[in-house]
Amino acid sequence: MTDPLHPFFHPDGVAVIGASSNPNKLSYGVLQNLVTHGYEGGVYPVNPKGGEILGLKVYPWVGDVPDPVELAVIILRPELSIEALEACGKRGIRAAVVVASGFGELGSGGEEREAQLQEVIARYGMRLIGPNCIGVMDTTSRVDTTFLTAMPEVGGIGFASHSGAICGGTVDWANTVGFGFSRMISLGNQVDVNMADALASLAADTHTEVAAAYVEGLPHGRQFVDVASNLTREKPLVVIKAGRTPSGTRAVRSHTGALAGENRAFEAACHRAGAIQVEDLQELLDASVALDYCQPLTGPGIALLTNAGGPGAVGADALDQQGLHLVGLTSETQDLLREVCPPGAMTGNPVDMLGGAEPEHYQAAMDVLFDAPEVDGILVVFVPQALTGPPEVADAVGQAAVGGEKPVVCCIYGGKDIHEAAKMLHKSAVPHYLTPARAAFGLGALWHYHHIRTRSAVGPEPLEQIDQRRAKELIETAGGDGRRVMDAHTGAEMASAYGISAPPSGLAETAEEAAKLADEIGYPVVLKRVAPDVVHKSDVGGVALNLEDATAVQEAYEAIIGANERAFVQKMAPEGLEVIVGAQRDRQFGPLVMFGLGGVYVEVLEDVAFRLAPLSEEDAREMVMETAAGKLLKGVRGQARRDIEAVVETIRRIGQLMVDQPEISAVDLNPLIVGDEGAWAVDIRIVLEDR
Ligand code: ADP
Ligand code: MG
Repeated sequence: MTDPLHPFFHPDGVAVIGASSNPNKLSYGVLQNLVTHGYEGGVYPVNPKGGEILGLKVYPWVGDVPDPVELAVIILRPELSIEALEACGKRGIRAAVVVASGFGELGSGGEEREAQLQEVIARYGMRLIGPNCIGVMDTTSRVDTTFLTAMPEVGGIGFASHSGAICGGTVDWANTVGFGFSRMISLGNQVDVNMADALASLAADTHTEVAAAYVEGLPHGRQFVDVASNLTREKPLVVIKAGRTPSGTRAVRSHTGALAGENRAFEAACHRAGAIQVEDLQELLDASVALDYCQPLTGPGIALLTNAGGPGAVGADALDQQGLHLVGLTSETQDLLREVCPPGAMTGNPVDMLGGAEPEHYQAAMDVLFDAPEVDGILVVFVPQALTGPPEVADAVGQAAVGGEKPVVCCIYGGKDIHEAAKMLHKSAVPHYLTPARAAFGLGALWHYHHIRTRSAVGPEPLEQIDQRRAKELIETAGGDGRRVMDAHTGAEMASAYGISAPPSGLAETAEEAAKLADEIGYPVVLKRVAPDVVHKSDVGGVALNLEDATAVQEAYEAIIGANERAFVQKMAPEGLEVIVGAQRDRQFGPLVMFGLGGVYVEVLEDVAFRLAPLSEEDAREMVMETAAGKLLKGVRGQARRDIEAVVETIRRIGQLMVDQPEISAVDLNPLIVGDEGAWAVDIRIVLEDR
């Protein structure tokens, strides 16, 4: 895999355009970092004032800088940045970081400036990071285009962020607790280099063991999904998305000017890509550290080793929430533990060595747990007590973990007394967490990644019995009269063209016609008002169910169909459970399919699952099974099992419809009635894109 951002992370020569001799200026900080953080290539300050800064000759203009120079860091006002970028292009520099803000995030005016940047890079075939960013750091090549005061330690986490400030805070945090990074990239407004490029670069970087991303907007959503999917086949990806809630979205809009997508679509995108989505920056790092340091977790059985009951119990609860559990230790394991633990220790799980546990006890007990075949991973808890110091325990845990073939995470619980211990643990590649629940969360991330790694790589299998030509015809005629919503009958025909079962139906313009149609269809039938603008026909008395004969049909027609309206006559579907299958086209990620419990409570319960289309059979089945509707379909308390296969099939076909027919913007089957054998879409609403 080639690194699309290689010149940014391994440049042969860096020009700093707008370098200042004033130590209070950010550009001075950039120059200082390039000089003092160990970067070995040439560093060339550029400033019309000339002279010397930090012992380096200052070049009046970038054209004067000697070869080789591959990267330019431009720290000038927005208008001057554009000019400088042009000069870099002329000079043959093909990679540039533009630091200034004052571009697209301002709205109009700023957007024009971004267009100018784009025009320049297109003309010279350049790559650009930013604007409104702090650029890159690489702990191996030692390049550092930021003005952050410290570089992180060398580690396996590659971090890509839409926010430069978050990079700064993260480095400080990492340096305090002692974990490291391979690379960092601050993307800013991503006029050119975007999150997908950053992930492709982290995928290619051999020093990056795990990719972490702070995401705001993803205008190239599908590209993100494709690149992330490739990355997660090789290494884990943890992401946090800002702007998931309405107020978060507002904050993002005014921040880097990015458009935050709906969280549902993003969740579905993460699912497709095999990315682990987290809720908070702390979770982002907690998961990343575990994924960087630990062996894979291959089973859910955890042994919890502690010197105190309380934190052990909290840890056990937290493991449960991660889908993990305390494994039952065999009598052999417990015998061995009794030999090495202090007298009185409880050798069930949690293994509670009590307050007198010494560092040696930790080490010996861990050795036993490493050898116990029933144990998949180890959570170590230590609460400092009068006699035993945290550093000694950290040292023992670190030593035991070396060469151990199972993941170990550790919580040493406390405040200022434990900082040194935390750093020691990280030095031995054991993740340290301040609370047992966070340690359990770290293990949870490993468990999640285990599922991602082992999930089948089978893509969506082809679907048969799809009449694309008929579908296009229907869209053509329906769209013809300028209507955006297809009437129920055309919707039903559309469903049939895609192999989705809908009860036989037709349209009638008079009561007599309706009765005749019902005779043909066969009783019992349903009569519905045809009113494309009414979303819930039954709310306005527009649905008459269970009509047994022609007279009933005629009466219903007179009762509910208005003067210039038509009626939709439909055969009653067999009895079944009502679910909803829907789809809509997301601006960033494309077609998004939904499944959930139907009926009046759907909006209140939000018992829904989302996936990106197209879907494999496995995707669709998983989607059904993660909802309460899925459990009801399986049959609770003696109820019959419904035809889940028919639901899975319908979900996949709706996904395919969205993929094949870009003119459709949304579909709702509400309800799909799921019987013991078969499922019927009785209310089909298809919305077309605006022409
Ligand atoms: P709307 O959602 O606009 O009110 P629907 O066509 O969904 O109208 O009908 C309302 C309800 O009537 C459905 O949720 C379902 O319970 C029932 N229903 C509608 N059509 C049928 C049918 N063909 N067979 C069985 N029940 C039906
Ligand atoms: Mg309905």
